Order: sequence, then structure tokens, then C-alpha cells
Amino acid sequence: MEFKIYSKALYSTWILYRPERLLFDVGESISSVLGNSVYAIKDVVLTHGHVDHIAGLWGLINTRNVAMGDRKKPLRIIFPRGNRAIQAYLDFIIGMNPRLRYEVILNPVDPNEEIFLRTAGNFKRWLVPFRVRHTPGEISYGYHIIEERKKLKAEFRSLDSNAIVELVKKHGREYITENFTKKVLTISGDSYALPPEIIDNSETLLHECTFLDGRDRKNQNHSTLEEIIENVKASNGIKRLILYHISGRYTTRIKRLSKDLIDKLEDRELEIHFVHPEKLFVL
Ligand SMILES: [Zn+2]
Ligand SMILES: [Zn+2]
Repeated sequence: MEFKIYSKALYSTWILYRPERLLFDVGESISSVLGNSVYAIKDVVLTHGHVDHIAGLWGLINTRNVAMGDRKKPLRIIFPRGNRAIQAYLDFIIGMNPRLRYEVILNPVDPNEEIFLRTAGNFKRWLVPFRVRHTPGEISYGYHIIEERKKLKAEFRSLDSNAIVELVKKHGREYITENFTKKVLTISGDSYALPPEIIDNSETLLHECTFLDGRDRKNQNHSTLEEIIENVKASNGIKRLILYHISGRYTTRIKRLSKDLIDKLEDRELEIHFVHPEKLFVL
């Protein structure tokens, strides 16, 4: 399992990304659905301070305090620096739980900051926030997860394995390899459709898709499916698109409303998933 997602626009959104034990946003229902798995979460990453994205945080912090599990693991909460709703809510939660049995690390971040996640084997991963367009006055971020790997330098790729071993013996491993980075994941948060240059070459794009029918949108604070499809068409390298934060008004019409637009992408090798507003999504 890579993702567990619950998301219904206006009500609740949370996205568990298991490889990094990371939770993007914490809408309500998170603790009751995850149960003791709340201990598996290392990082909470908040996109903005609207209640449908943060309401479950008090419950999560509390459940983690009383449920069975290893209390030595800290919980880091990453959020847009200067977001007053989030800061006030965190102050309240910490004030209400003065004797937490584990450490909570509050980590406000700025756009383009590199936040280290993990290194394992020959790769290293970090998180990079970027500003998005949402409601006026609300500091809102999307995030990339970037991975750095080592690969064989082009000039050595035609050599056989014995020749490579010899080179490593002579000059060391660094001599034959170079680093390259890729965007493993991009998440939009609540936002107007992300421009192609932001989503370009992201292997998995998690994009909010509040409106399947653009005529239903009154303010330009959220995305429509049509705009997302246009921007995905204008970009390269996206392998998987997960559409979440879908309005509950479309519950019975997702397939019907999306078919024509999705058909426009038929020539591309792209896997598309819709997070149904009333179902737990697991991938
Ligand atoms: Zn929302
Ligand atoms: Zn919002």
C-alpha cells in the first residue's frame, strides 16, 4: 500500500503516503480510520489552515498519546510559516496537552526550503514547499517530494561489469557515478490548477479537483477538471494522476462527468484515479 486517502471538498481531507510515513493534511476521521497506525506517522505536512484540512490534528496528537505503541518516536508537524490559523490551532492543542508522552516538533517552513525526509540505500529524499493560489489571505502551499539517486556516468554505460569493477578499484565509486534528481510526487493542496512548469516531470501528481464541471465554480479558489487536464497535457513525464478534494455534489456522476475530458488524454500513458468523496481510497 502506497496511499490511503480520504477526501471530500469542504468536509475533510487527509492523505497518508506510506513510503515516507507522511500525512498530508489532517481532516477529521483520521484517528478513527487509522487507529493504532497513527504511530506509523513520522511527519504531518499541512498545506493550509482551512478547517477541513486541520480539524483532525487535535485527535491525532491525543490518540497518539494514549494508544498502545512506541511513545519514543517524535511527531514533526510541517506547515506554512506565518499561517495564523495553523499557528493558533497548534498553540491551543499544545496548551491542552501539556504532558504529552512524546515529542512534537513544530516546523514552520518557507517556499523552496529543502526539508530532509530520509536517506536509504543509494537515495535521499526531501520535501520542497511551493506557494499556491487559494483563498485571499490564506498562506497555502503545495509540496514536491524530491529524490536524489546515483547513476552510472554516460561514458561508462557501455562497459561490462568487470571493467566497471576495475574502475571502482582504481578510482573509487564516486568516479564512475553522478547524482540525478527526480520529482517522485507533487501535491497541489487546495489551489487553482497548478501550472505546467510546476507539475512537469512529477511521477505522481496529486491534484485537488473540487469541480468536475467548471460551470459550478463561483470563485477562482479551486481547480476544475478541465484546467487540470489542459495543464497535464502541456507538461511531460507525469505517470500517475490522483484527483482528490472532489465536491460531494458529484458522488454519483464522477464517471459520466469526467469521461469526455479524460478521453482527451487517451494518447498519453497516464494512470488516472479519482478519490471518491465518500469512500476510503487505497492504492
Ligand atoms: Zn479544502
Ligand atoms: Zn482550503
